[in-house]
Amino acid sequence: MSIDAVRVGQGFDIHRFTDDPERRLVLGGVVFEGARGLVGHSDADVIAHACADALLGAAGMGDIGEHFPDTDPQWKGVDSLVILDRVASMVRASGWTVGNIDCSVVCEEPKLAPHRDAMQRRLSDVTGAPVSVKGRRAEGLGALGRREGIACWASAVIYRVDSRSEI
Ligand code: MG
Repeated sequence: MSIDAVRVGQGFDIHRFTDDPERRLVLGGVVFEGARGLVGHSDADVIAHACADALLGAAGMGDIGEHFPDTDPQWKGVDSLVILDRVASMVRASGWTVGNIDCSVVCEEPKLAPHRDAMQRRLSDVTGAPVSVKGRRAEGLGALGRREGIACWASAVIYRVDSRSEI
């Protein structure tokens, strides 16, 4: 196998906490029981959204807002892993293979470590590639430090195999 092309993409997302007790917190496809939820049109999974944007950016296929607009009722309350799964399929359909995705999540709460393995597994299952999730506190600085929300940065690598080398 010889690699024909490699591309990198970067994704960012941020969502504000809600006081709505009915709203569940979903991160990396995992429900955090008892934690404050995030405001959003979908389930507001910042990690899944950042991963999707990183993949779209790497493939030069626009961004998540373009493909899954928050004005479209079909995406209301949607499980964001469905969105990420669709994005990974679109990227693969363009001839790319997902190499890996690396995520940095910044928040003061909740603690991510207890769910880290489960998040990585779920994200890897839908993207077909290793996904790492790293949690960082905001050291009390700014909106994230004031516990107003959660942000995530993601980097994705995709590659294309030279089909001539498979003959
Ligand atoms: Mg989002």
